Parts: sequence; C-alpha cells; structure tokens
Amino acid sequence: MKEWITVLKAADAAARWHVHQKRKGVAQEPYINHLLEVAMLVGDATDGKDTNLVVAALLHDAIEDQEVPREMIAEAFGEDVASLIEEVTDDKSLEKQERKRLQVAHASKKSNRARVIKLADKTSNLRTISTSPSPEWSVKRRLEYVAWAREVVVGLRGVNDRLEAEFDRAAAAAEQSVTPKL
Ligand code: ZN
Repeated sequence: MKEWITVLKAADAAARWHVHQKRKGVAQEPYINHLLEVAMLVGDATDGKDTNLVVAALLHDAIEDQEVPREMIAEAFGEDVASLIEEVTDDKSLEKQERKRLQVAHASKKSNRARVIKLADKTSNLRTISTSPSPEWSVKRRLEYVAWAREVVVGLRGVNDRLEAEFDRAAAAAEQSVTPKL
C-alpha cells in the first residue's frame, strides 16, 4: 500500500478513536488537532523519511487515553508502530506524580525514534499553554508544567536538532505568556 494512504488510515483511526476527547484548553479543541500537530512536527523534523514514525505519532495517545488494544494497532499498522506507541505510553495504573517522575527518569533510556515523538508531544503541549491554557490551570501550575517538560527534555536531547529548537521556542513562549510585560 502507498505510504501516504497508510498515514491517512492512521489519521482516520485516530479521529474515530479520540472522537469525544477534547484538549484541556479553554478552546476545547478536538483532540485530533493535537495528534495532527505532533505527527506534522515529527514528519517535518525527519523530512518525511520514516512513515512508521509519523503513523505512531498520530496514534501515540491511543493506548494511554483510549485503551485501544495493542494487538489491534499491531494488526493494522504493524509491530514496529505498535512498539513505538507502547514506548511512549505511560502506565496509567500509577499515580500521576509517579508517572511524571518516571517520564524524567526514563527519557534518556528511550529509543531515538520514541524520543522524537516525545519531543514533538511536549512541544505541542507547551504551545497550548501559550495559545489556549486550561481554565483550571493557575499560573503556578503552568510554570510547573513548563519546568517539568524541560526536565523530561533534558533526557530526550541529542536526537533531532530542529525539533529540540522547536521545543525551546515553545517553552520560552509558554513562559513569556505569563510574564509581565515591562
Ligand atoms: Zn500527546
């Protein structure tokens, strides 16, 4: 099958799997916007050379947020895509704080390709803090999120200069969005 058709099939599956999910921001964007942004960042940063990586980026939250069975993903998109997604999926049986701690601790142990997806994911999440933060997130919480994302990214660096620069820009913009203008 042509690779771009596989990518479309992944986008279609993602749209249906996350159909009722919204982003946390005040704009309540459909979740597919986040998935498309992450996939686009990944595709751009890797010059479109790794189709499976773009497919995995589209589906990166499918197991974590929608409990899509791993076997279903492996059957439709292959073992490589399924294991990439598994690598970027948090263990939801753990407490939130523990999950956040593990993301920092495990970042540098991930494969280079999983690190690319994680960098794009964090970049997309930070962009939302500038453009449409959650109404429930205080300034302190927003700053804490940026600081935590920066900590995770320390362990992710060294895989893609372009994406790392994109992350740095998003982190700076998120901080600036709550800084008084002097
Ligand atoms: Zn995500």
